[in-house]
Amino acid sequence: MVVKPVQNNFRDTLTTSRSDGSRAWLYPELVKGKWFFRRAWVAYILLASLLTGPFLEWEGHPVFLFDVLNRTFIVFGFGFSPQDNILFVLGILTFFVFIFAFSNTFGRLWCGWACPQTIFMEWIFRPIERLIEGNANARRKLDEGPDDTSKLTKKSLKFLIFFVISFALANVFLAYIIGKKALFAIILDPPSEHWVGLSFLLIFTGVFFFVYTRLREIACVIICPYGRLQGTLQDKNTLTVAYDIIRGEPRGHQKPGVVNNLGDCVDCNWCVKVCPTGIDIRNGSQMECIQCTACIDACDQVMEKVKKPINLVGYFTENEIEKKIPFRIRTKGLAYFGLWAILISVLGILLFNRTPVETVILRTPGNTGMANGKNKIANLYNFEVVNKTFVNQQISFRPVSKDAKLIWVGKEGFTLEPQKVQKGSFFIEFAGSERTSMTIPVEIEILTNGEKTDNVKTRFFYLPDPGQSHDKDDKPEDHHEEQED
Ligand code: SF4
Ligand code: SF4
Repeated sequence: MVVKPVQNNFRDTLTTSRSDGSRAWLYPELVKGKWFFRRAWVAYILLASLLTGPFLEWEGHPVFLFDVLNRTFIVFGFGFSPQDNILFVLGILTFFVFIFAFSNTFGRLWCGWACPQTIFMEWIFRPIERLIEGNANARRKLDEGPDDTSKLTKKSLKFLIFFVISFALANVFLAYIIGKKALFAIILDPPSEHWVGLSFLLIFTGVFFFVYTRLREIACVIICPYGRLQGTLQDKNTLTVAYDIIRGEPRGHQKPGVVNNLGDCVDCNWCVKVCPTGIDIRNGSQMECIQCTACIDACDQVMEKVKKPINLVGYFTENEIEKKIPFRIRTKGLAYFGLWAILISVLGILLFNRTPVETVILRTPGNTGMANGKNKIANLYNFEVVNKTFVNQQISFRPVSKDAKLIWVGKEGFTLEPQKVQKGSFFIEFAGSERTSMTIPVEIEILTNGEKTDNVKTRFFYLPDPGQSHDKDDKPEDHHEEQED
């Protein structure tokens, strides 16, 4: 049996717009049931994590920082730099595979339970709005009523509080990007010293204010790309908030004690009235559904009142409703999760084996070697060292071959500050005839605070000056110069 929605025209219009294209403002009712309280726990824990994240420190450095301008990224206390491009690409890939795996099996659980947009809207802004303007009916009446003193007072108070909270959120958001010290400097120093930072603070405040006063569910229903992807990610075995159409239909008002052939849905519309995106879950799986579970709580309350089993609306797969096949993670989901497990293992291994400093050494381009005094030939190399840690590191290089001599351009060795990059040059010198070409592999050990932490392979190359006579067979094997790993 194929489950078909009772109404087929529900996809013709958006619940948030009228036929003339104007916005249809939604006034979702508040419903408190078991799912509401479960979600509240999750939301408050996530809110606390989100709001404190950029202010937490671990051994003197932030736990989270996404400083795009200075190219410094800290995730769970681990510092990353642009040189970690392999980790970055693998991390993104792992993230997307996880999204595929999770969404294919558990649907839009993220949207209803963990998305910051939902959490801020449903657990900060909407409760304040209810406190000031009242329940759904009172809010609708207020909006449709005259612009009297009461309305102006309520609206002004609401917008003022929304603005203050948006400003606070903008501060937190900026702290994720520039760090708490830079944020405090913007707040405490004279405004003229931080006009760029202050401008961004105001822009972010404006964006938050607009999103939570006007945009609201439009962000989820129209803008969010994750929402748009659901059609391709979900299938009949995906667990979603759904209406048990087999049990519920045919729907209709029912009188207690009267026997009829109606299904369990009493057509009270309570599930629609509580929906923050304004949809009717009884029409089946819809892109607008953010899986917030409000309709489950609403319908459970109705079912308890009419003395019927709860869960007419609940977490189901389509196959569970249609064919009574219980939910379990299917082959496709297992394949996604398997791939994700492989990727995350590789990521873990790479993270675990990550060196505290990363070094790139390249022979200076176009350099064909040089005679460096009698029977000595030399190559010039450029290096770039990144300190990925949060402490100073004393860096030095040492050639593995005893025949090679490393001569620094400038002072020998250097101290590298946390999360900084140092560039420089050095010569490698070998004993050899200035008339004989030479290409040999060279290995250089990287010493961090006197301990070997890495080694870099490159090449030493010498081509005599063409003006000098030399054997034709002395041609070098390889004119490329590159770090081999
Ligand atoms: S249909 Fe139900 S779960 Fe989906 S958004 Fe509406 S109330 Fe939330
Ligand atoms: S709340 Fe339950 S009974 Fe009421 S209309 Fe929705 S599905 Fe039907």
